[in-house]
Amino acid sequence: MKRKALIAGNWKMHTTVMDACHLAADIAGRCTDISDRDVLLAPPFTVLSEVSHVIRESPVMVGSQNVCWEEKGAFTGEISPVMVKDAGGGAAIIGHSERRQIFHEDDALINKRLRGSLKFDLLTILCVGETLEEREENKTFEVVEEQIRSGLAGVGAAQMAKVVIAYEPVWAIGTGKTATKEQAQEVHAFIRNRIETMFEKSIADQLRILYGGSVKPDNVDDLMAQQDIDGALVGGAALDAESFGRIIHFR
Ligand code: PEP
Repeated sequence: MKRKALIAGNWKMHTTVMDACHLAADIAGRCTDISDRDVLLAPPFTVLSEVSHVIRESPVMVGSQNVCWEEKGAFTGEISPVMVKDAGGGAAIIGHSERRQIFHEDDALINKRLRGSLKFDLLTILCVGETLEEREENKTFEVVEEQIRSGLAGVGAAQMAKVVIAYEPVWAIGTGKTATKEQAQEVHAFIRNRIETMFEKSIADQLRILYGGSVKPDNVDDLMAQQDIDGALVGGAALDAESFGRIIHFR
């Protein structure tokens, strides 16, 4: 089954308005020929509008790095899906390991965010992945399965068309250590199998599963050649237009 690749850049807490506009314009300029793949930028909330404006005539999409489940209300410090859309965003990343680890977001909260994001029709990227300790204790599959089951609780089959899963082993994020293509493929195939069990084969076949964790120009081609790797969620290398441009143009 051929799935359209998705290359997503998570800018984390980087870029002021001027940096963001330059970076987005540079990336958009490298995406004029990408009809066979999707590209998504997830800048900080503060520059979402400006980045949306800069890329408006390109095929590049914009999304947020997190989202609240409510449309509006007393949720100090949060951003609603309606606000993301109002700023030109069409997607949201949920459950990034930095949200889980630094801000103690648990599976129940992540599920709330995910369902809120889907309710407002955002393309929703659910991040899952084990820590080094969990991998060393042979708990990778158990941890990933639980994150998927809890993260997708209450999600209907029809909504799965808007879900993307990103497998990001925590030990590979920002460390320069990439999972080998075999390690990544093994977990991706496992995720697809679990989705088939939870939903049905056609949904599992259509689901895009991204790999994240030190994706760089020199490892993207090998990773993308794996059967169940449908794209990449990129942190560090997404802040450099040349590197990200090369990753977008994986071969
Ligand atoms: C990420 O933050 O999702 C990520 C994968 O970061 P990096 O590419 O820097 O490892």
